[in-house]
Amino acid sequence: MSNFQHIKPAGKAQFMDRYTTKAAELLTPYTDGAKGDVAILGAPLSKPSISHSGASFAPDAMRRCLNSFTTYNIEEETDISGKTIIDFGDIAMHPTSIEECHQRIYQSTKEIAQAEAAPFTIILGGDHSITTSTVKAIKETKGTVGIIQLDAHHDLRNTEDGGPTNGTPFRRLIQEGHLKGEHLIQIGIRNYANAKAYHDYAIENGVTVYTMKDVKQHPIQELIESALNQLDPKVDTIYLSVDMDVLDQAYAPGCPAIGPGGMDPDTLSEAVQSAVRHPKVQAMDIVEIDPTLDIRDMTSRIASLLIINTLIN
Ligand code: CA
Repeated sequence: MSNFQHIKPAGKAQFMDRYTTKAAELLTPYTDGAKGDVAILGAPLSKPSISHSGASFAPDAMRRCLNSFTTYNIEEETDISGKTIIDFGDIAMHPTSIEECHQRIYQSTKEIAQAEAAPFTIILGGDHSITTSTVKAIKETKGTVGIIQLDAHHDLRNTEDGGPTNGTPFRRLIQEGHLKGEHLIQIGIRNYANAKAYHDYAIENGVTVYTMKDVKQHPIQELIESALNQLDPKVDTIYLSVDMDVLDQAYAPGCPAIGPGGMDPDTLSEAVQSAVRHPKVQAMDIVEIDPTLDIRDMTSRIASLLIINTLIN
């Protein structure tokens, strides 16, 4: 190829600017012993979703959308071009067995946590059912876990009606003894998006619930700070679970469960940025994007920005 002046490898950008670095250029495939600032792992599973979902395509979409951002933050006057995102690739899912898929997510998350390639790990979902497996793996690697969940829904549904779906991850964690209810803080829960029985279950089990009304009445930094102060003395590590349907439907057309009355992207972005400054916040997932429903990757782009936000501290 070197003799051809005007031919480039397929798939590469048409236009290159010598002064511009794209966030996607920070992605570095994992090799043994590699160290970086953030590690990512794709969990492309959407079969347990109770509604139609192509969330299995989301890890690729989030990586691709890193091409939509440069590495320069004008407001913080920082450039993250020197940072590295270690990319562990995607977990190979079993074609039919959801139980086996969840087992592989658990095992793979544990393996990459033990590899200690970076101080912060991001799991790219997938639907929300993956979180039971990832949190179990983090708990077994790092100790008692607390969770800050940004979500429109409690995800505390009973398992009798459908098994380990994307409506049950936090209930399963509590029932299986991996998580104490008092170590779960939910932010962004919406009206007419949950049954009363699940709010009752949350309160009975000591879960802290901040609704969208709370989000609208308080700066998000205050809610995150309060959550961190509550968890810090009680847990060894804090896990951030970001369900993109916490966003209003105007911003997140790619979520299977869209709805009005949700959060705006600046608030979500600020929430993640505030949380990851805390040294005990060491892992995060981003779930519930179906790129086949999305419009111009709007939802995946916001998710990619959240990944970038974890690099500017
Ligand atoms: Ca959820």
